[in-house]
Amino acid sequence: MLTLDGIGRTFGAKTALQDVSLSVGPGQFVCVVGASGSGKSTLLSIVAGLVAPSSGTVTLDGAPVTGPGPERGLVCQSGAVYPWRTVERNIAFGLELLGLTRSERKARVDWYLAETGLEPFRRSLPKQLSGGQRQRVAIARALACEPGVLLLDEPFGALDVQTKEDMQLFLRRVWRDTGTTVLMVTHDVEEAVFLGQRVVVLASDPGRVAADVAVDLPDDRDLGVKREPPFLALRAQVEDLVRSYHRRHAGAVA
Ligand code: ADP
Ligand code: MG
Repeated sequence: MLTLDGIGRTFGAKTALQDVSLSVGPGQFVCVVGASGSGKSTLLSIVAGLVAPSSGTVTLDGAPVTGPGPERGLVCQSGAVYPWRTVERNIAFGLELLGLTRSERKARVDWYLAETGLEPFRRSLPKQLSGGQRQRVAIARALACEPGVLLLDEPFGALDVQTKEDMQLFLRRVWRDTGTTVLMVTHDVEEAVFLGQRVVVLASDPGRVAADVAVDLPDDRDLGVKREPPFLALRAQVEDLVRSYHRRHAGAVA
């Protein structure tokens, strides 16, 4: 269980996050949406242990988070794969740090290459891949360390619509195959509702939890669900929430 309790973060006079409390159960897929500047990346960086909160605590299975750790894998929009390493050596990177033996590393890398469809590209360099394939490498590299929690910060934000939808299907399949807990932030409401079992809406200025919406759609959903009334209703509900908290803020500063 990942638990955020009363998380606040200020940057000088700016309050990026205020009193954010949130729990993500083992194996859950939770999406966080909010307007640009609502504190999504700050929230994820705090869970990753890259940014310290000004107040509050993060615990994972009861243990306080005080810095980065292999049990929490982070993937950002840019992916940040190592350009000089082949695909397989990118995926092996964290395993070297974890001290796995050569044969253990090979078994792990082979499994994640197959799982992510990257086997044909194992000896390619990132520059030889498409944007979507590079994001697969970044996700495979994070997953290979078998983190309890996968943290995703707008991982598909730079991809075209078709590639993005391929990646959404890919991520849902990997999530179901591995049982990993996923906490993903995105500004794309359709993506959040398609992927998440819950969608948490952040309000801006200060960033805080405005709503926590249960996504009551089947776990084996495919892209067709995006055209069905229950999905469209949920999407409209979350879009209205994001917009209303954005407008309230815009009204307050006008
Ligand atoms: P989002 O990811 O939702 O767009 P961020 O978490 O990046 O939002 O930023 C939330 C707010 O905190 C913004 O107003 C941003 O300018 C501010 N902020 C984030 N990181 C820093 C930083 N390192 N220094 C100063 N201000 C920051
Ligand atoms: Mg961000």
